[in-house]
Parts: sequence; C-alpha cells; structure tokens
Amino acid sequence: MAWTLARLEALDREDGLSAFRDEFRLPEGVVYLDGNSLGPLPRGTPGRIAAVLEQEWGDGLIRSWNDADWIGLPARVGDQIAGLVGAPAGSVLVADSTSVNLFKLLAAGLALRPERTVILTEDGNFPTDLYVAQGLARHLGDRHTIRNLPPEALVSALRPDVAVLLLTHVNYRTGALHDMAALTGAAHRNGTLVLWDLAHSAGAVPVDLAGCDADFAVGCGYKFLNGGPGAPSFLYVAPRLQAGIRYPITGWLGHAEPFGFHADFWPAAGIGAAAIGTPSILALAALQVGVEIALRAPMRAVREKSCRLGDILIELVAQECPDRQLALATPREAAHRGSQVSFRHPDAYPVMQALIAHGVIGDFRTPDILRFGLTPLTIRYADLWRAVSVLRDVLESGEWRREVHRARRLVT
Ligand SMILES: *Cc1c(COP(=O)(O)O)cnc(C)c1O
Repeated sequence: MAWTLARLEALDREDGLSAFRDEFRLPEGVVYLDGNSLGPLPRGTPGRIAAVLEQEWGDGLIRSWNDADWIGLPARVGDQIAGLVGAPAGSVLVADSTSVNLFKLLAAGLALRPERTVILTEDGNFPTDLYVAQGLARHLGDRHTIRNLPPEALVSALRPDVAVLLLTHVNYRTGALHDMAALTGAAHRNGTLVLWDLAHSAGAVPVDLAGCDADFAVGCGYKFLNGGPGAPSFLYVAPRLQAGIRYPITGWLGHAEPFGFHADFWPAAGIGAAAIGTPSILALAALQVGVEIALRAPMRAVREKSCRLGDILIELVAQECPDRQLALATPREAAHRGSQVSFRHPDAYPVMQALIAHGVIGDFRTPDILRFGLTPLTIRYADLWRAVSVLRDVLESGEWRREVHRARRLVT
C-alpha cells in the first residue's frame, strides 16, 4: 500500500513519543533531519544556563564549586549517561572532546597490551578516529601498525598481534550498525581490547556496554544527546580495568587529591582518573538538560520509532523519487541500521544545498552521500512526507543545478 500524507498523519496521532517534540525549539517551516550532527535546542536549556550564570556563577562565585557541586558535575552527568548506554554508575565521565577521549583511551588500551603492535579498525571509520590513531602511533615511535579493513574482514583479522580494535558503532556515512556483543566477544577471545565510539549511538540506539563486556567507549554530547555545539564528550572504562589504567595525560583533576597540591601525580580511584583539567560548567549544564530528556524517553519506543521512520523514508523515496541516480547507501534492514538513512547521488552536494534552501535540513558527506538523521523525539512521520516531496521536486525540476547550490562552504 502506497504511503500517503494521511497515513503518516495517522501514525503521528498514535505516536507515544509525540509530546517530546514540544520540549525542543524547532523553527517554523523547517524539517530538521540533522539532529545526528547537531541536536536541536531543548526549551529548558536557556533557563538552565541563565540560572548557572546568574545564581551559581554571578552570586555564588567560586563557592559554587562546592555549594552547587560543580566539581562533581562531570561524574554526575556521567552517571546519567551511563543509564543510556548500559553502563554501571562510576564508569562514565564527561570530559574533553570525543577526539581527546579517543586519544586517552586508545593510549591506555595500547599500554595494557605492550607486546602487541596492531590497532585494528574499519575502512571508512570517522576521520578523527583514524587521525587520532595515526598521531598516537607516530607519537609512540611508529611501533604500531594501523590496519583498516572492511567490516566483514574484521573478525578474521583478529590475530595475536592486535592490541586494540577501534570501531564506531554506527557508521557516520552509511548508518550501518555493528554487532557490539559479537565483535567484543570475538576480540576478547583473541586477547584484544575494544574501544567503541558511540557518537551516533548514545541516545539513538540501545547500547549495553556492561552486557557486552565492553572495555572502553567514547561518545558525543552534541548529536543525539542535544547538548549544544561543541558539548563535552563522555568516556567509559569498564570497572574491571579502571585500577590498572595509565592515562597519557595526567592533569591535576585526575589526581587522587587535587587540592593536596602535591608535587607528584597519583591517580584518583575509579573513572575520576580520566579527568585532566577544569570542566566547562556552562557546557556541562547544557548537556545535562539534553541527557535528562533522553533519560525520560523509553529506549524501546525510541528504537521502534527510529526503525519505522527509517523504513518509511526508504519506501517513500522509492515511491516518490524515480531518479535512477539516487541509491540507498544504508542497510535496508532496520536491525542493521543506526538512526539515519543515507542515499548516494553523484551530485549530492548541490542536491543537499537545494533541500536546505527549501527548509529540509540534512547533510552532505563526501563524496556522494545525502544523509538524513532520524531523531524520534522531534521528527513527525508527516515530516517525512514534506522532506521527500521537496527531494522529488528538487530532483525533477533540476533546481540543484543552479550555481548558488554548488558553492562549497567550509562546513558541510
Ligand atoms: C561526531 C563524531 C566525532 C566528533 O569528535 P569531536 O572531537 O567532538 O569533534 C568523533 N567520532 C565520530 C564517529 C563522530 O561521528
């Protein structure tokens, strides 16, 4: 049966998550399919930031490190995020950027496997993950080899020399979802540690770090967690590993007694040793608002709606856009996808610019990907109708060929 606007509107009326949309500020006339790149602004964020500014900073001044427990905020928000990724309390800390946390944990993992010299990762992993691995290997004197393989070749490449398997759970281009439990198990049988990048997973797909016995993970605060541009990242270290970890950056806030002002470093117990310097309190406060919304949304319902939105978007594009140049780049089966759907098109850049000009915001990923993020808390089924109608019109009219849509901007 063909999809119609009326059928999609009926799904919206039955949608148990529909009330969440009102918790976000979404501009009139925009279909936002980019919450996987920068989540929208929660309506509660400006008030929370204002309170931190006026009362905690303005009135409380330096006393707020204790009185408002600013000093405990990275671990507190970490414990809240732990609830979204299947991690126990005391195993997640909010700190730094995802890139910096990748460096910290990859270095810590390599130090736990000193006799092994291979970092195994995936072809097409996110660039920062690859660059961090390359820079770290160089920094360690070029003793390590980085092996990039297609996803289907990873398990057979687990040989005795592989120290760390570095993978992104949901591929940023194709949206393909790894089987975290199976890959972690295979790596462990080989004595290999696994570092999962959850940038496109946290708040979007079910994650069970403890259930998979994962070693390390990092994740992003500004995508599905709606923490705002440049929101701090989070990192996870399995409790069984925490005591033996050597982090490559030992700053004063990772010290067991930061205010003992000792001349020598000795690490805090637990996840606290992963901290480096003073946390950004304003950014943490904004992230906490986004995380608290995500905690109230039942993950089962979020995943179900995400899968359904993806299926419908794929079917609707097949139904409405006969353009032969458009090819699905995402696994067709929902169980193998994260919370995005991507299509290839040889002119993906100007096509996306034309869509954005008509209020349908997704993103272009080089070389030929049109990427649509599906955020179940804010997207209505009927929004897909509007998005696909605009896509059809842009392709049929050839509007994307206009010069204005071809000019490359710095951020795509
Ligand atoms: C978005 C993203 C990052 C972002 O890293 P930053 O240090 O926050 O810029 C890292 N890894 C993956 C897989 C991402 O998708």
